[in-house]
Amino acid sequence: MKIKKSAFVISAVSPAQYPQDALPEIAFAGRSNVGKSSLINMLLNRRGLAKTSSTPGKTQTVNFYDIDEIFRFVDLPGYGFAKVSKAQKATWGKVIETYLKSRENLLEVLQLVDIRHKPSQEDKQMYAWIKSFGFNGIVVATKADKLSRNQIAQQKKVIRKELDMAPDAILICISSSERTGKYEVWDLLNAIFEA
Ligand code: GDP
Repeated sequence: MKIKKSAFVISAVSPAQYPQDALPEIAFAGRSNVGKSSLINMLLNRRGLAKTSSTPGKTQTVNFYDIDEIFRFVDLPGYGFAKVSKAQKATWGKVIETYLKSRENLLEVLQLVDIRHKPSQEDKQMYAWIKSFGFNGIVVATKADKLSRNQIAQQKKVIRKELDMAPDAILICISSSERTGKYEVWDLLNAIFEA
């Protein structure tokens, strides 16, 4: 897919603030620092479009990006900060759950996990949520450049097991720093748009 124009639209907390049209949406979920902004920027060939982790105020919101005015990427709030209160964690959970549950535009959710780590409790909950709201879920293991080929194969097994993924569920590895996996992700997204 050749992207001509991508633009940030709005940071929303409640459904009333979501864009009010029917553009199809693909959402990205994952713990903070997993590489979500880097993946979005790689897919769109943009450097600084998505920068959730470093933009105060945007970390707890659902961030919408219009792509060529034909579809949208939706950056969900990153979870898993060590230094937040229970109340803040609950708010994030609600923001994510509300979007997943209520958004008719949503076609599919990409869940990012760091290939180096065993999925956290929150990663497991996120994947279970995605499934429970009727999506297939696409798991994207980030930072593949940090591991050897053998380690990647090993970690893929760990991720599949810990997330309790079905045998035919999709898991792809990417590296935003080496720009690998980009076309695999686009192939999957194109197949979703065409379905
Ligand atoms: P976000 O919080 O999920 O949006 O994460 P970012 O995209 O901001 O990335 C967090 C950190 O991980 C940054 O320092 C990135 O440079 C780094 N990072 C992201 N993707 C990769 C990757 O594929 N490989 C490596 N080595 N580092 C990455």
